[in-house]
Amino acid sequence: IWQNVLDYIRQSITDVEYNTWFVKIRPLGVYNGVLELGVPTSFAGEWIKKHYTETIQEALLHLGAQTPRFELKVIPGNPVQEDIFSAAPEPGKSTDPRSRLNSKYTFENFVVGPNNSMAHAAAVAVAESPGKAYNPLFIYGGVGLGKTHLMHAVGHSVASRFPQLKIEYISTETFTNELIEAIQKDRMTEFRDRYRSVDLLLVDDIQFIAGKERTQEEFFHTFNALYEAGKQIILSSDRPPKDILTLAARLRSRFEWGLITDIQSPELETRVAILKMNAEYRGIRIPDEVFEYIAKVVTSNIRELEGSLMRVVAYASLNGVEISKQVAARALSDVFMAKAEYAPEEILRAVAEFYGLRTDELKGAGRRKEVVLPRQVAMYLIRELTHSSLPEIGQFFDGRDHTTVLYAIQKVQEALDNDTNLQQNLRAIRERLG
Ligand code: ADP
Ligand code: MG
Repeated sequence: IWQNVLDYIRQSITDVEYNTWFVKIRPLGVYNGVLELGVPTSFAGEWIKKHYTETIQEALLHLGAQTPRFELKVIPGNPVQEDIFSAAPEPGKSTDPRSRLNSKYTFENFVVGPNNSMAHAAAVAVAESPGKAYNPLFIYGGVGLGKTHLMHAVGHSVASRFPQLKIEYISTETFTNELIEAIQKDRMTEFRDRYRSVDLLLVDDIQFIAGKERTQEEFFHTFNALYEAGKQIILSSDRPPKDILTLAARLRSRFEWGLITDIQSPELETRVAILKMNAEYRGIRIPDEVFEYIAKVVTSNIRELEGSLMRVVAYASLNGVEISKQVAARALSDVFMAKAEYAPEEILRAVAEFYGLRTDELKGAGRRKEVVLPRQVAMYLIRELTHSSLPEIGQFFDGRDHTTVLYAIQKVQEALDNDTNLQQNLRAIRERLG
């Protein structure tokens, strides 16, 4: 049915809009009468929701849907890249079916900054002498910070240096699915041969192995076979091995045998460099001040950063205007409009829930250690996510002085620079806010 929906929608919008937003949507299925659609980034999701909800609903009704309900789901890790803007080379399309490597994810396209230089150096070392430098190499870091990119880069580099070596890239999810299928179809020997005969095994998002006993068991044997034969293993995860709960101890200890290295969020200069590299790769020309503007306002992760750039380019082309800082600000304005959608009360509640406190404890005068940091966090988030002024926030917290609020916000900002735990907590609270 999705193809029919697309055909219908196509009549009512321009080709540019169609190519920008609709080609990348993947129908996922219908659940309880709700059509689920996969979108590559949360920006695309927001944009489509905001601008095309009616268009899609109308198409669904036209095609006879009872209730035209749909939901957009971000499918991260979907290597589909945006590529409509110019005669730029098509990124990310040609994947080698054998090794499942994405052609965009190379060392040349990887910007090295203080946030990822260790992981990058380790990856280069491994690519130069697979099986001999660090084995396994374990790379961890938050979503969209370049783990998958780096793994693929090693794959490409090894493939060109040592053409005879067999390379296999696999997500933990696919590994699990293939394993289940092999068990069902009685093809375990094939499955084992396949993964135990490679020279370089790249396993992405290994944290998903948590709690899957059978997969852990099988992976344990795969790991041993490869390791003993001196083959290279690279693993990625959103957290270090010690934080992957319900992971068999023998696997955890093996993950820690080689080198564990992390990727952090990129700082401003690195974000600018990544944007420039991205634009160059796509053959788009953009004034420097626009890169700087986007890099300043989008700090969450690199996927969002690239998504924002894409959005600015799409916005400019849809409106037939040159890309400038003003245009960028307008294109990204609904990202910031999101600010006003939160009420201070709501943020306070989310923070209280997260820390297991009551809202009146957060507002009140208590100086207990357990409430001081959460209170500062609440002030910080209210400042970030609403238009409230410092005196207003002070008022909200039982009539505190605005300098107290300022102090709290500065405290949190300072702590955020190097406290990854706090960074994670803030992210979790924001997710609660939705
Ligand atoms: P992760 O696997 O950590 O979630 P990805 O490797 O999928 O993140 O990276 C998300 C996006 O950001 C990809 O498009 C990737 O090419 C890009 N990216 C990440 N790190 C860098 C970097 N250092 N330089 C250039 N692009 C990067
Ligand atoms: Mg990834």
